[in-house]
Amino acid sequence: MNRICHNCGREVGSNEQLYVLRIELFAKAEPLELTIDDLLADHTAQIEKLIEEMEALDPEEASDEVYESYNFELCPECRRRVHHLLKGRAKSHKVQ
Ligand SMILES: [Zn+2]
Repeated sequence: MNRICHNCGREVGSNEQLYVLRIELFAKAEPLELTIDDLLADHTAQIEKLIEEMEALDPEEASDEVYESYNFELCPECRRRVHHLLKGRAKSHKVQ
């Protein structure tokens, strides 16, 4: 089994801990604001247009827009660098 750090590319010895960085990128779920008028309106033309657009999309690209995830294996040094980077970001964009 090869233990290569995906960030710096160095080989990680069997006496060293490997770390996994898992990244998920997906659309934030937010409630849609619908009015009665929206619900009652005839959307046939819009829906047909949407279907046409979806048919033209590359299926792989379309699913990437919904959900992407990546796994990176990191050596201890890169893990520490990523840790500091994320900590710094998390402070300015605090997750509720
Ligand atoms: Zn590394």
